[in-house]
Amino acid sequence: HAKAMGRGNFQFFTEGMNAATTRRLSLESELRSGLEREQFVLHYQPQLDLRSGRLVGVEALIRWNHPSRGLIPPAEFIPVAEEAGIIDAIGDWVLQEACRQLGAWREAGLDPLRMSINLSTGQFLDKTLPARIAELLEVHGLHAGLLDLEVTESVSMASPNETIEVMRALTGSGLSLSIDDFGTGYSSLAYLKLFPIRTLKIDRSFVKDIETDPSDADICDVTVLLAHRLGLEVVAEGVETEAQLKFLRSIGCEKIQGYLISPPVPAAQIESLVRRHPPIEAGGSVILWQAA
Ligand code: C2E
Ligand code: MG
Ligand code: MG
Ligand code: MG
Repeated sequence: HAKAMGRGNFQFFTEGMNAATTRRLSLESELRSGLEREQFVLHYQPQLDLRSGRLVGVEALIRWNHPSRGLIPPAEFIPVAEEAGIIDAIGDWVLQEACRQLGAWREAGLDPLRMSINLSTGQFLDKTLPARIAELLEVHGLHAGLLDLEVTESVSMASPNETIEVMRALTGSGLSLSIDDFGTGYSSLAYLKLFPIRTLKIDRSFVKDIETDPSDADICDVTVLLAHRLGLEVVAEGVETEAQLKFLRSIGCEKIQGYLISPPVPAAQIESLVRRHPPIEAGGSVILWQAA
């Protein structure tokens, strides 16, 4: 090991560790000050209902507007925020900001949109979450029915018996729950059927090659079948082509999200998307929802 390699190597190794540790610590402190200085921003990705052809909801997706590095995607800072214990504060900001935005859209006279919010494990297990959400709904004059909370399989299956209780406490107020990235984790079907959830979100990795990989097409097909047998609805993630949309419609998938409709965009663009674009005809052809 390092000591056996001689003094020089040992020092080199230690310096390497220190560099990584220093980077991580500075990222942590930047995250904390970023939160204080309101450097986080939510972008929203519309969800299209394939039955009505209408935009019926949005998913809130966080970005970090870093003063020197620009817009940083969540994959680059959420894991660090989780390890550093800052995720709860960030998650609470997300809830607050998403509810504020929903209230603002309502005041602007926009048709009611449902809001999907991603929850971290810590947030989900926080016993004060239902009361916190009730408070935010009240402050912004919102119906709980407009909110959808997304948890992944790893969040929901970590201790499934506790999950059932937490989910009951959350859905008691009328909000709904989704399982995100479905099929990529370890779902127990025995528990899945007991969870008071409304939606399964098919992960983008299964949608990507739906046209060329028969196994992926079958996985999507069977997921929709399973969801419907359990009384759940399905949202497909990452839909980029019209052929994917057509296939998903043919197997009875209710809603889609993806670049075909729109990437995640700032709130102002959601407003113009919803205002400018009429519903898509059932079976209609080309769809290009571009923010003007
Ligand atoms: P997710 O919840 O599964 O979100 C979907 C991701 O797929 C988003 O990445 C979205 O931009 C991307 N996406 C959507 N449509 C397409 C498409 O057609 N093609 C491709 N290639 N990608 C598409 P994003 O915004 O980078 O977020 C990544 C993940 O970060 C999210 O995955 C979620 O797990 C996490 N995340 C985002 N916001 C939050 C948050 O507020 N709290 C927590 N705890 N996690 C969050
Ligand atoms: Mg999500
Ligand atoms: Mg997802
Ligand atoms: Mg995903």
